[in-house]
Amino acid sequence: MTEHRTRVEVGIVGGGPAGLMTALLLKRRGISAAVIETRTKDTIHHTQRAGILEAATVNMLLDAEVGSRVLTSGHEHEGTVLSFDGEQHRIDFQALVGRSVWLYPQNEVFFDLANAWEREGGEIHWAVTDTQVHGVETAAPRISFTDAAGQERSIEADLIVGTDGSRSMCRKLIPEQVRTDHFISYPFAWFGILCEAPPTAPELIYANSELGFALISQRNETVQRMYFQCDPDTDPQSWSEDAIFDHIQAVLGTEGGVQLKRGPIIEKTVLPFRSYVCDPLSHGRLALAGDAGHTVPPTGAKGLNLAFADVRALVPCVEEFITELRADRAETGTGTGPGGTGTGGTESGDTGSGIETPAALRRYSRTALDRVWKAQNFSYWATNLLHRQPEENPFTHRRRRGEFDAITGSVYGQAYFADSYTGWSD
Ligand SMILES: Cc1cc2nc3c(=O)[nH]c(=O)nc-3n(C[C@H](O)[C@H](O)[C@H](O)COP(=O)(O)OP(=O)(O)OC[C@H]3O[C@@H](n4cnc5c(N)ncnc54)[C@H](O)[C@@H]3O)c2cc1C
Repeated sequence: MTEHRTRVEVGIVGGGPAGLMTALLLKRRGISAAVIETRTKDTIHHTQRAGILEAATVNMLLDAEVGSRVLTSGHEHEGTVLSFDGEQHRIDFQALVGRSVWLYPQNEVFFDLANAWEREGGEIHWAVTDTQVHGVETAAPRISFTDAAGQERSIEADLIVGTDGSRSMCRKLIPEQVRTDHFISYPFAWFGILCEAPPTAPELIYANSELGFALISQRNETVQRMYFQCDPDTDPQSWSEDAIFDHIQAVLGTEGGVQLKRGPIIEKTVLPFRSYVCDPLSHGRLALAGDAGHTVPPTGAKGLNLAFADVRALVPCVEEFITELRADRAETGTGTGPGGTGTGGTESGDTGSGIETPAALRRYSRTALDRVWKAQNFSYWATNLLHRQPEENPFTHRRRRGEFDAITGSVYGQAYFADSYTGWSD
């Protein structure tokens, strides 16, 4: 069978939120892009993931004019509740830092972006197999894959953006002698449920007690999302509905206070906790964005928001690189462009054997990683504040209570939480 070849300026591996947002924003700047994705659109649309959007993420959806329903179907949260041993404290984001977050599920964010990309005639291949990326250390990188109809295809590009999620294959194209993998795992996981019930509370409740962590979240008027801390090896089927709700209620406190709204559980999942950062996020003609470059534990609600922050940093740098490349081609006709071996526009420091990484893409990596590490710190800190450790004893629990009081009992502590949770200012 002959391979079908197309050519764009930017080839994107992974059609999740990071990949689709990158494609759309590049198109807004007159840069051609194509996306490939291993899953079907329907599968992604029906997979529950993140739910909390920082204001900057919402603004990106609105500014990109993708027809997002975030303002009509989403819910603005001006604060959140922290609960320790049944005692609740509200953190008022608006009063403290003048920003809100929005509850709008990731699968709806994805659906808005995918619909916009398709409506605008963007090239996308769903349900591909055999993805391979070639030549990221050359001036002519290429993606090859088999499409859903079994046709072998190839996308030639000037740059590849790897937005292929936490199990990224693109990341491994950065040679080991150039790449540092920062990684830790945690001794616990989240047991997540979706249940058919009205909201228990208007805002999220992050709760801790001697039993560990629980999170009361929302989805819509009839379906709710809740989590509690569990062992990473937990079999989701080993917990009955009553046991799940009784446990979450016990973490919230049974005396007065918040009473859970219960209903049939329609999904149970166990979500392991990991922190990972790939440094650098660019190499040769490859840039990574979103979970492909870093993952955080979900406690700080940072994963999806970091993916969007990467895209904010990446798109202007890609535009700069493509603009230089076009000018170089017009002038010399070589097509090697910025980052070509021996040309200007690069910085020293590459130890890979091929083409140098363009300066604009190096700058992207540095800018994005600064924010990633701030988010890693907040996610790590919030995770340890709110979870029971395996070696927990009365001292460690009481010490964490002291840390909790230092946050909730001081306007400065509250402001730290609010500033970090709502996503700092860019
Ligand atoms: C249960 C859960 C709860 C979460 N809760 C939150 C939260 O509350 N707040 C928050 O901010 N974040 C949360 N996150 C994290 C958030 O979902 C991710 O950070 C977000 O999905 C990152 O987007 P992305 O586009 O980088 O990656 P993804 O959404 O993972 O998209 C990557 C895409 O690449 C595709 N792909 C992979 N390999 C290939 C290949 N070889 N070829 C082609 N395509 C490929 C995948 O199918 C996938 O669709 C949660 C995650 C989970 C799992």
